Amino acid sequence: MRLTHFRESPATRAPDGEPGSSGAHGWELPLLVSPLLEAPFVHGFTTRAGGVSAPPFDALNLGGKWGDDPANVVENRRRLARALGGRLVVARQVHGAAIARVRAGDPTAAIARVEADGLCSDAAGVTLGIFVADCIPALLVDPKTGAFAAVHAGWRGTVAGVLPAAVTALAREFGARPGDLQVALGPAIGPCCFEVGDEVTAAFLAQFADARERGVVVPSPRGAPGKSHVDLKAANRLLLERAGVAPDAIDAGPECTHCDRARFFSFRRDGSATGQQMGVIGRPA
Ligand SMILES: [Zn+2]
Repeated sequence: MRLTHFRESPATRAPDGEPGSSGAHGWELPLLVSPLLEAPFVHGFTTRAGGVSAPPFDALNLGGKWGDDPANVVENRRRLARALGGRLVVARQVHGAAIARVRAGDPTAAIARVEADGLCSDAAGVTLGIFVADCIPALLVDPKTGAFAAVHAGWRGTVAGVLPAAVTALAREFGARPGDLQVALGPAIGPCCFEVGDEVTAAFLAQFADARERGVVVPSPRGAPGKSHVDLKAANRLLLERAGVAPDAIDAGPECTHCDRARFFSFRRDGSATGQQMGVIGRPA
């Protein structure tokens, strides 16, 4: 992953000498991008930088449910939509494995009521978005058909198979072949910090027979009894490979949202006094 910066210049003065009425100050929005997801797709993973929210939501909080000033969230989302250049569409995430298709004419408000943890589309001008604050934001593209998807994978979604469900949906809806897909797994809580109890450990061991060999479940680094650590990215890499995605077509960055307080929101670290970042993908109109 590397950083790119979308910049909006300060408003220029109108010919009559009056200052511009809006956007008088320029702003800059950094996005983490993967080299695997090439044009014509546009995508990015947001960080905390580039927004207008006050602490503890500073600064680019894109989530609307934990008490940030709604006007700030609206401005932050406006900036992100502008950086991507399309209509930003999100669903109601419920930690499940449902994937919903978005067509060009679907109203944004209608999709926002759909319970789904993944969205897929092949419509130009639509930007699919996923909210996260420790869970994995996953972006998938098929260069052959032009189809793309954004997926939310926490531990429940991972065990439920939300990423393989997205691979299946892209095949069913658009004829995408798993071997043609390119996938980027964005900033999420790392195995360094994702401590879980017996119940979650058991759920992963049930889904992944080789969970320990593949490093999906590792012993507690501090030797805590009844605790293990889970590597969500390793788990989802395994699921994608099982679903037919090529190993070298999966980009999983090393960023840990919990470790990196300066750059990322983390629900595990800060509870409800945190914001949400997003993974977004689309194709320009
Ligand atoms: Zn960490």
